[in-house]
Amino acid sequence: MQSCLPGVGRSLCLACRQFTPVNKNLSRLQPFACILATQQHRKMASAKIGMANRLKGTEKNIWVEFGKLAAEHQALNLGQGFPDFKPPQHIIDEVVKAVNSDNALLAQYARSYGHPRLVNVLSKLYGPIMNHTINPMTDITVCVGAYGVLFCAVQGLVNPGDEVIIVEPYFDCYEPMAMVAGATPVFVPIRPSKTGSMSSADWKLDPEELASKFNSKTKAIVINNPNNPIGKVFQKDELQVIADLCIKHDVICIADEVYEWLIYDNCKHVKIASLPGMWDRTVTIGSGGKTFSATGWKLGWAIGPQKLIQPMQILHQNCIYTSPTPLQEAVAAGLEYELDLKDKNQLDDCYLYSLAKETQPKRDRLAAMLEDIGMEVTMPEGGYFLMADISKLKDKFQVPDDGSSDPYDYKFVRWMTETKKLAAIPPSAFYSKDHKNLGENFLRFCFIKDNETLRKASIVFKEWKESL
Ligand code: PMP
Ligand code: GLN
Repeated sequence: MQSCLPGVGRSLCLACRQFTPVNKNLSRLQPFACILATQQHRKMASAKIGMANRLKGTEKNIWVEFGKLAAEHQALNLGQGFPDFKPPQHIIDEVVKAVNSDNALLAQYARSYGHPRLVNVLSKLYGPIMNHTINPMTDITVCVGAYGVLFCAVQGLVNPGDEVIIVEPYFDCYEPMAMVAGATPVFVPIRPSKTGSMSSADWKLDPEELASKFNSKTKAIVINNPNNPIGKVFQKDELQVIADLCIKHDVICIADEVYEWLIYDNCKHVKIASLPGMWDRTVTIGSGGKTFSATGWKLGWAIGPQKLIQPMQILHQNCIYTSPTPLQEAVAAGLEYELDLKDKNQLDDCYLYSLAKETQPKRDRLAAMLEDIGMEVTMPEGGYFLMADISKLKDKFQVPDDGSSDPYDYKFVRWMTETKKLAAIPPSAFYSKDHKNLGENFLRFCFIKDNETLRKASIVFKEWKESL
């Protein structure tokens, strides 16, 4: 549409949604400044052109901030949780095979709710563990990472106005996911029952405090077992307390179990879905990236009753639709291989078990370094991470105030990354606003690292100790 006025065109004003004359020169700089624009138009434009209200309060992200900081300072990265060694060779071979396959369909969209070969092996692997016959087509959904599955669970199952109980410390995305769904997160902390060096088993949920958080608005509880960042592996009696409350108040349990295979010291991982009455109300979440030390592959799954999985599938089919086919094929083949070893009881060769065996000495090695410098370690029973109490270090040196209003652990990690070239994660990021004080005297370290990385860490700690 052209205007008869020289230098003036007509275009759709994005503020008032009408075709109006536009000053061509100006419009290049200010697309919404139509010549007729009034103050009101500009106001409408500034309110509309930007972020959706539901994202307010979710702008900051710990991985974005501290990942960037570690990269900027080329720090040894014991912060973000990822192994810095290769996944097992057989799944690498499988992904190459899938990408090179004569079967052209392996390069095309997979079934929306999960590649059949993958959901079939997941049902075979988890059926006996969950004590339930799992229908691969209706009781499983696959998505882009456990993140994607968590998102589908919260968006697909929670209504605006609902309350979602989140056990603290929690994997940070639970809170913004609940907020974006319009729900109110309600927090309940796992607290250490003593001070100093201890086991993650010494961190406990108070059953009465937990019970006090349930009410008629409670739609779901999210638990992470093994817990990131503490490494707590919930015992059966602890899970039973949660299960009883879920049943009493008719609440869904979202069980994030991405570290299910990383269990140490003969500790046993129990799936809350396997407790009586819990299958019908639990969504259990797993991760191919965690299972096979390939976090960049981003393949996750949820297992549960059809009435909980179907809403997740409905959400998924209309936003992400499907996950990469060659990766699903490779993870499926990898799990078939591991399941065969598991069934033959060749557990030393089975990656589902051997990874934890290889990782436990790494945990012990890092814990010893941290204790040596004066941090007090909570020895994790599971997962990738350990929490180290830095209270005692406070007396030995002063971390400079970076001028921010952030909790002490943020300042400590920034200082350590910049000056010691060693990155960790500040655990107060895993606590709600009112409970950040519970995390700010700790650091979270990731120990699933190559021995060479741990050797480099030992040099950093040795030099640091000498400087104290
Ligand atoms: N849950 C927890 C507890 C995690 O630590 C992570 C981090 N990887 C995820 C879920 C997300 O897993 P994925 O990489 O498969 O998306
Ligand atoms: N889950 C990993 C951790 O806790 C990483 C998550 C991420 O990088 N977004 O470190």
